[in-house]
Amino acid sequence: MSRQRDLVHPRDEIMRAMERIYRYRMTTTSGGNLSIRDEVGDLWITPARVDKGSLRREDIVHVRADGTVDGPHPPSSELPFHRAIYEARPDARGIVHAHPVALVAFSICQRTPDTRLLPQARQICGAAGFAPYALPGSKALGANIAQTFAAGSDCVVLENHGVVTAGSNLQEAFERFETLEFTAKTIIKASLLGEVRYLDDEQAGRRPEASPSADSPAPSFQPGPATSREKELRRQLCEFVRRSYQQRLMISTEGAFSARLDEDSFLITPHRVDRNILDPDAIVLVHKGATEAGKTPSSAVRNHEAIYQGHPKIHSIVNAYPVNATAFSATATTLDPRTIPESYIFLRDVRRIPYGIPQGDGRELAGLTSLRDPVLIFENDGVQVCGSSVLDAFDRLEVLESTAEAMINGFALNKGTIHRMPDAVISELNQAFGLD
Ligand SMILES: [Zn+2]
Repeated sequence: MSRQRDLVHPRDEIMRAMERIYRYRMTTTSGGNLSIRDEVGDLWITPARVDKGSLRREDIVHVRADGTVDGPHPPSSELPFHRAIYEARPDARGIVHAHPVALVAFSICQRTPDTRLLPQARQICGAAGFAPYALPGSKALGANIAQTFAAGSDCVVLENHGVVTAGSNLQEAFERFETLEFTAKTIIKASLLGEVRYLDDEQAGRRPEASPSADSPAPSFQPGPATSREKELRRQLCEFVRRSYQQRLMISTEGAFSARLDEDSFLITPHRVDRNILDPDAIVLVHKGATEAGKTPSSAVRNHEAIYQGHPKIHSIVNAYPVNATAFSATATTLDPRTIPESYIFLRDVRRIPYGIPQGDGRELAGLTSLRDPVLIFENDGVQVCGSSVLDAFDRLEVLESTAEAMINGFALNKGTIHRMPDAVISELNQAFGLD
């Protein structure tokens, strides 16, 4: 991903990433360590045996290239494998290691998650590697892991242990880590629903047509002064994207949100900016097919544009990847909202869209979108939810994920069968709530 000049100190960068990993329960307090190799070759690494919930910036250990160590604590006992990875991969500048539960499940089954579950997962993580077991902290473990990284993997599952990811900076290593854990979780949930469908190499490697391309840059324009309404919508989009991240409806690398500004314009989240740290300036204005100068919109931009053109009552669209609803997107099992009245009233009939249509120019997808049935499940590509406002779209997205989770739990509880509300109950709901 493109980045501005990096002015964050390694101590603060490590603190931030560790806070996120701990807060979203991707490690226990004793497990996990992060490191950065800086521009002069010094390492900065989390300390051994310090509570991850109360880590302070001065606890981060500075290990100089000459081997001398600065800090109130010894460095993580896994320093040997961090060193081995940096030696094997001169391009690596940041490493994340932890024991997140879904990837540990794969690790103890001697498997790796197939990242061809979703195109984004493949593009961000590549194919995950696997390193055989060795004693924690040992040179042998370092050698096993470094060998897998040397062969080209950026994400490596450790047998009976956990996972390590590396990147050209710590943010990239974190994004791979989070995306791989999300992929693992989704595969586990999908396995409870039936056979899991994966993309082939060609599909998984294909970039959506609307993604930025050097050959055909979209026309751009310099917008005039922003109206109060535009400012309000920018603020709302940032707030709801952050909420979507915090509620685990999006992860740092996946998800798009837009809102209609007027007949010919809408605002949309940018391409590849961490969903947890978005600010209103980063949101992209799109007017009659041209994008605000100097910004790159989400790859969903053409789909959203075609939908706004064809559906005047739709005022907001979100593409998201909540684990449970995404599990339905990777299996043939139908997500049926006739479970409880709230689900039916908010979601109506959920339709499934074959892989390829959302990756097209948007026109076919716009024809299949409607405000009456606001949710579409994209095969192996998450979900799309429409609303009459940003809040309405977000609200439906939350109901969708709750419905999907309740269904999966119901299947697990009752050997694959749940009780759906019968037609008479649906007619009664239609009448009482004025649904057509
Ligand atoms: Zn470990």
